[in-house]
Amino acid sequence: MCLFCKIIAREIPGTIVYEDDDVLAFEDIRPVAPTHTLVIPKRHIASIDEAKPEDAELLGKVLLAASKVAKQAGIQEGGWRLVINNGANAGQTVFHIHAHVLGGRGMQWPPG
Ligand code: 5GP
Ligand code: ZN
Repeated sequence: MCLFCKIIAREIPGTIVYEDDDVLAFEDIRPVAPTHTLVIPKRHIASIDEAKPEDAELLGKVLLAASKVAKQAGIQEGGWRLVINNGANAGQTVFHIHAHVLGGRGMQWPPG
């Protein structure tokens, strides 16, 4: 079982901030912004490149849950960033799709 599947199964602890039938959101263990929450599908998909057409609805639910998380964290009004790293060059380290909800400070563009 992958690290994030273990958080879903409560085999390792996570600070969970949102959950529904399809999606889980929990605080990143090494935050890089005042709000840094990870939103994941409960079904294991390693990366966006591994996603299949039948995953489209689930991925949409991840995006909608990210917006709920941003609202709940109070960062929606000022604007926030959603990041999905895909593969080595992007810095993906955990191979279970996760969207980073980042906010509470100004963001640079382009990202590093
Ligand atoms: P990636 O680099 O793959 O886009 O993001 C992986 C993220 O998972 C990193 O921001 C890292 O801090 C976070 N992370 C790694 N291990 C754990 C963990 O055990 N618990 C939590 N909550 N976050 C983790
Ligand atoms: Zn997994």
